[in-house]
Amino acid sequence: MEELSHYLDGALVKGTSGRFADVYNPATGEVQAKCPLASADEVAKAVDIAAAAQPAWAATNPQRRARVMMEFVRLLNRDMDKLAEALSREHGKTIPDAKGDVQRGLEVVEYCIGAPQMLKGEYTDSAGPGIDMYSMKQPLGVTAGITPFNFPAMIPMWMFAPAVVCGNAFILKPSERDPSVPLMLAALMEEAGLPKGILQVVNGDKEAVDALLDHPVVQSIGFVGSTPIAEYIYGRGCSNGKRVQCFGGAKNHMIVMPDADMDQAADALVGAGYGAAGERCMAISVAVPVGDETADRLIEKLVPRIEKLKVGPYTAGDDVDYGPVVTSAAKQNILGLIQSGIDQGAELVVDGRDFSLQGYEDGFFVGPHLFDRVTPDMDIYKKEIFGPVLSTVRAGSYEEAIKLAMDHEYGNGTAIFTRDGDAARDFANRINIGMVGVNVPIPVPLAYHTFGGWKKSVFGDLNQHGPDAFKFYTRTKTVTSRWPSGIKEGGEFNFKAMD
Ligand code: NAD
Repeated sequence: MEELSHYLDGALVKGTSGRFADVYNPATGEVQAKCPLASADEVAKAVDIAAAAQPAWAATNPQRRARVMMEFVRLLNRDMDKLAEALSREHGKTIPDAKGDVQRGLEVVEYCIGAPQMLKGEYTDSAGPGIDMYSMKQPLGVTAGITPFNFPAMIPMWMFAPAVVCGNAFILKPSERDPSVPLMLAALMEEAGLPKGILQVVNGDKEAVDALLDHPVVQSIGFVGSTPIAEYIYGRGCSNGKRVQCFGGAKNHMIVMPDADMDQAADALVGAGYGAAGERCMAISVAVPVGDETADRLIEKLVPRIEKLKVGPYTAGDDVDYGPVVTSAAKQNILGLIQSGIDQGAELVVDGRDFSLQGYEDGFFVGPHLFDRVTPDMDIYKKEIFGPVLSTVRAGSYEEAIKLAMDHEYGNGTAIFTRDGDAARDFANRINIGMVGVNVPIPVPLAYHTFGGWKKSVFGDLNQHGPDAFKFYTRTKTVTSRWPSGIKEGGEFNFKAMD
């Protein structure tokens, strides 16, 4: 069995803690690799290496740093097939979906090529008599990020590309479920010209995360994952004086108005609800048809589409719509929530519980499920299921529908399907959710905008990628200079307005 490594100071390095996590092939259920779980000492070593390498990298001019990103984009395209295969093998998602995972990360790397422009400061000539004022955006130093299993290429790139192009060193602690692609990305960054020690990968679990949170040299922590861990990391990181941004779980509602194109809405729901086996933080997990007649028409359109979904291993190629979920524990959790939905009175319209795939009986496959007549007090409504399960909550009116989405504790994404511009506009304006789609089910903003939810889907203020990433990974220093004349004309001792 393969023993995976860390990536430290430009080399693959075996773990020394003696602790490992199993990495599965979710399609077969077999353990295919062992992932080392770093000790606090191993983390401290990575921090020392990063701290030693970072000043020279920060002193490298921004254009040269951007050129590393340019070359990295070329290498990502060169190795796209290899990366997608490694990603699917550990995560389970289909190959086209795995390529999408790499692609949406790559687009943020492309955005980072604009770093020389983004890092320009502001300048005020003659802010006072003989006085100029300017600001600089300086890197933080050693930064770190902790990422989830569901986008093992995209989310690490969303963090390390802006961190590194701003002149920081970055330590990535990826998910221990699928660590191979992050290791490959670190090696590719070095091939692209990044100096050793600037991007390192430390594999691990809570012990490694806590070591990063408590290390005084680490200046910032980025986190993406489930809400309880996001809350924990935000609290501990902030109380240690770090800059922290944490993105958590989701329960994304799609409102379907009576005037919506019902075929379009049903197609959108099937893709957004079941794609990647529902393991996306922007998956639609709640459909909210407005009015019983809308609900009946929607369900009628959804059922045949869901029953046609092809579930299988990524190796089956284009013949598969979605693959297995990530672990047996994830599968058991999803099945447990489905049972709770039945017990609490929801109507299971499409029942995928007896799904089984010949030759893959030990794989972590979950058939598609559709619930109707779900109510807000049920666990399947309150909790993030993170599986191929779509819940329908019937709303009596538009006001009731918008209130449902607004009252839910999560606020990552949402969508409205309608032909009425006024309803769409009202929805976009009033809703207390960070990313909104109008006839678009998964409104993931592009690289040059920013990504982030509201409410319990986020802890911190700045969003991911776009201009916010350059703010998160730099700090501003403002210089007031009187030059060349000044002291020689006599000192000033009062704190004065510059007029
Ligand atoms: P997770 O919270 O279990 O793990 C995320 C990371 O935290 C991993 O690297 C893991 O090793 C680490 N971790 C786990 N337990 C820890 C602990 N007790 N202390 C410290 N670190 C710990 O999440 P996951 O299952 O990998 O990912 C799925 C979750 O991520 C879902 O809730 C999903 O909605 C969320 N997600 C959110 C976004 C977003 O942008 N809001 C994007 C993708 C995924």
